[in-house]
Amino acid sequence: MTVPLPVSSSNALAAAAAHDPLLAVHALRVTFPADGGTARAVDGVSFTVEAGETVCVVGESGCGKSMTALSLLRLVPPPGRIEAGSAIRFAGDNLLTLGDEPLRAIRGQQMSMIFQEPMTALNPVLTVGDQIAEVVRVHTSASRREAWDRAVAMLRDVGIADPAERAKQYPHELSGGMRQRVMIAMALVLEPKLVIADEPTTALDVTIQAQILELLRAQRDRTGLALLLITHDLGVVAEMASRVLVMYAGQIVEEAPVEALFATPSHPYTEGLLAAVPRLDQIGGRLRTIPGTVPPSTEWPTGCRFRARCAYAFDRCAHEEPALLQVGNAHRARCHLVQEPERRSMSATSNAMALPEASS
Ligand code: SF4
Repeated sequence: MTVPLPVSSSNALAAAAAHDPLLAVHALRVTFPADGGTARAVDGVSFTVEAGETVCVVGESGCGKSMTALSLLRLVPPPGRIEAGSAIRFAGDNLLTLGDEPLRAIRGQQMSMIFQEPMTALNPVLTVGDQIAEVVRVHTSASRREAWDRAVAMLRDVGIADPAERAKQYPHELSGGMRQRVMIAMALVLEPKLVIADEPTTALDVTIQAQILELLRAQRDRTGLALLLITHDLGVVAEMASRVLVMYAGQIVEEAPVEALFATPSHPYTEGLLAAVPRLDQIGGRLRTIPGTVPPSTEWPTGCRFRARCAYAFDRCAHEEPALLQVGNAHRARCHLVQEPERRSMSATSNAMALPEASS
């Protein structure tokens, strides 16, 4: 029988110190001033990423996953702020106390980010070759010629045909898939230790999406980089992740190795996300959806934040906030059902009735 243990922050920190992970995020809180109060966009998030690992962060819009990613590079848009007590350690440095100069050296060189929409991240008045070469020049002592040659080589590595000619083109002259490859080339050109990718394939068709994911996987295998992939697409998770963090209402509600998450989801929210994925063996059937929406971050409910949408909710969920509890090897869930599993089967019938179905 599994005895659920609260994961204390001191244990988490001690474990992090013992393993010395590449990235260790501890008690991250990001807030924004809002009408009538404070929006808690990220509310006590702790996790680690090991070198060479791919960790996927999943959840609906508004659950805090993109803000978590931006925090890692200290790019939270003002007036948002990372609260005192948060800690982000990367390759031995606390990024939240680092000066601007050493932080700039880490950004781009050791840690880089791929954004969802390359047109907003690329400079429209510079050729793509110049933009990649600029990254090389800023962070290394390479000459203009050497930087240009590295840019062209990188464009070739990300699968762009005729890279010497493409390098002379401006972003608007390239297709969406090619622009995304340019973003990836910029993110990878200095062989960083960690790449954060926020919905990197959402705007692309499925063929290009598969190529981009394959490209990231190949680079990971070749250079040993770690990937933190933000996505709402569980197909991408199944294909890429070694470990998964499920976020809801600013918190991690489940964390598990990818196989365990798909085989035995322990949080009702994860269960709902998985039930909403179309499956080939259910063609003609009906897709489930999770009723309701993520509450606004100014009004996280008391007790369990998922309560209003949860078909298993019982009295305790209304007044006691669940802790992140151990359910298996490296598998944790923030749900009272971990301690009272019998309630899951008691609610099975009402669950089936409470999750409304939508046509596939
Ligand atoms: Fe549902 Fe209660 Fe678990 Fe929250 S704690 S997910 S309301 S069963």
